[in-house]
Amino acid sequence: MTGKADYLVIGGCGFLGRHLCEHLLQRGYSVRAFDIRKTFDNDKIDFYIGDLCSEEDVLTALEGVTCVFHCASPSPLSNNRALFHKVNVEGTKLLISLCKKAGVKKLVLTSSASVVYEGNNIQGGKEDLPYAAKPIDPYTETKILQEQIVLAANSSDFYTVAVRPHGIFGPRDPHLVPTTAGLARRGKFKYIIGDGKNLVDFTYIDNVVHGHILASEKLGKDSPVCGKAYHITNDEPIYF
Ligand code: NAD
Repeated sequence: MTGKADYLVIGGCGFLGRHLCEHLLQRGYSVRAFDIRKTFDNDKIDFYIGDLCSEEDVLTALEGVTCVFHCASPSPLSNNRALFHKVNVEGTKLLISLCKKAGVKKLVLTSSASVVYEGNNIQGGKEDLPYAAKPIDPYTETKILQEQIVLAANSSDFYTVAVRPHGIFGPRDPHLVPTTAGLARRGKFKYIIGDGKNLVDFTYIDNVVHGHILASEKLGKDSPVCGKAYHITNDEPIYF
């Protein structure tokens, strides 16, 4: 496929990516979805099935695109350090170099609030918190590296920003509710880690999408959002 598109959503067949595609269409934008698998049909979206780690696949999808949302990642539950590194770190480096080659102007990364989490409750934490010196798992380790790479790539003619949700919930959630319900069904919800007052932050999918779209619309020359990371949340965290 050739021509132009306002947005390319990498990971566009995933939970967040599909919602992003659908909201972008509602706002009148032209949309491409790039993913390693196809999970739904929509006549208004141009689908590009490929691997983020393949130069040829990514470059084809980037042609004529103004802004990229990068929300592809292996599942955090996979616990596969090599795969996280390959996709989240090397795949992101490749994406940035190909964005520049293809003349893409903007890149919005879906990062994670876990990049500042070291195992102790954080309440009211702001973006000036340092990255976790001891990330809680290999997934988070690569989300930190990925975010650093994306923010460092911001320049006078390539604008980048990172959005940091924590637990996302809403329609078609494949992670939070199914995993929690699965554990409960297997009788594994009868123990408490800590004193039962651990804080967890959940954000509704539409708010996460809205934050991403606003971030992309604000990216541009001399914009204060360029090269920065933003936490996104509903309001107060809850005890979990
Ligand atoms: P998801 O698993 O539903 O979607 C991720 C998509 O990435 C999938 O469709 C998958 O096929 C695709 N993908 C994986 N490897 C790929 C590759 N090599 N090439 C192309 N596509 C590939 O996950 P999600 O919940 O939609 O998460 C989206 C982003 O949000 C991720 O970056 C994740 O780290 C981040 N995030 C999610 C949550 C959450 O609670 N869901 C919280 C914080 C951050």
